[in-house]
Amino acid sequence: MSSNAILVVGGGFSGITAALEAAEVGHEVYIVEKNPFLGGRVMQLNKYFPKLCPPSCGLEIQFQRIKNNKNVKFFTLAEVTKVTGKAGDYEVTVKIKPRFVEPGSVDLSDAAKKLSKDVKSDFELGLGDRKALYMDVPFAFPNRYVLDKERCTKEDLEVLSGSDVINLDDAPKEIVLKVGSIVYATGWKPYDVTRLTNLGAGEIANCVTNMQLERLASPNGPTCGNIVRPSDGKAPRSVAFVQCAGSRDENHLNYCSYICCMASLKQAAYVREAFPDARVTIYYIDLRTPGRYDNFAKRILDDDRINAVKGKVAAVAEDAGTGDVILTVEDAVTGIKSDNRFELVVLATGMQPSIAGERLPVDVPVDEMGFIVGGEEKGIFAAGCAATPLDVMKSAQSATGAAMKAIASVRGR
Ligand code: SF4
Repeated sequence: MSSNAILVVGGGFSGITAALEAAEVGHEVYIVEKNPFLGGRVMQLNKYFPKLCPPSCGLEIQFQRIKNNKNVKFFTLAEVTKVTGKAGDYEVTVKIKPRFVEPGSVDLSDAAKKLSKDVKSDFELGLGDRKALYMDVPFAFPNRYVLDKERCTKEDLEVLSGSDVINLDDAPKEIVLKVGSIVYATGWKPYDVTRLTNLGAGEIANCVTNMQLERLASPNGPTCGNIVRPSDGKAPRSVAFVQCAGSRDENHLNYCSYICCMASLKQAAYVREAFPDARVTIYYIDLRTPGRYDNFAKRILDDDRINAVKGKVAAVAEDAGTGDVILTVEDAVTGIKSDNRFELVVLATGMQPSIAGERLPVDVPVDEMGFIVGGEEKGIFAAGCAATPLDVMKSAQSATGAAMKAIASVRGR
């Protein structure tokens, strides 16, 4: 039997946008998100384009809209494992991992503090720790702690067993949803820079990725918004950005990741705001600042302490004595090769679809890089960075388009 309901896979900015567009014109919508919280990559940013506002400003409104709309149901810690049927009549199996925390918004920070062990936080991208009972950020949605039970010690479990909001017996569940159409909004992940062996990421402490810099600059990040060197906590007075780290490279990502030139310009501004005497150098092949972003780029590059150099970074080395990073750069204009010392280096890491390398439970075509490139005739629509590299604003536009197509697909049957 055909269904008017729409499934949205992925609860980041695109997924939320698509879900709300469909729900607000009367469709029942299910969001399936694999993480414990909605919001996706935007949650990790310090500020995002076009208004350079913090993630809370855009996302909190979206979270409110979800809360207030009975048509939207969302499942976190959830993954689609099986899809059968056809356009208009899909049966979707979803596996939901246990959260171990009962519904309701209860501040469990005191309980978390009692736990013995700090564990590496995936959200902080290797720069910070968390307790096994946690929320990623204070405005996380749902505003409900999650327990990483596997990473609890025996003593931790004993401490938690006395709480009436922790359910240590919570178990995985499986549900089946009937939907007519599916929006894939699975987003992106930063390219694994440890594969860029010549750029030192993962080996040189003061060589970080652009997403790690977002966490360092974020007030809710591991350094409470202080941009400091991971090796010694020192404020860097000379910072270099290495553009196209993994992108536009046949051996890695064979496309332009669209946002990383803008991200570096934005982050250069973070550094200059924090340290008025700091010097910033951006090493680029091309600086891509599409449309009206050109004006933003001009404004940033007007700063005479921000220098953009057309040149290729050939090698990255560490001065073990100081922790400084030495970049060997070939200037593309003069052809001169030189070694340049910086206190911190940021790799403008490329954007890879988060489903790259994964087997999808639906039969849709993906290209060699993992972007979804078809499936519309089956009532399956890709939104945002699941389809192509985009910024947040364009992801939202893409998601709206995908939602419209999904609506037309279920209404046309
Ligand atoms: Fe390179 Fe800039 Fe394109 Fe990113 S946006 S891949 S840094 S040209």
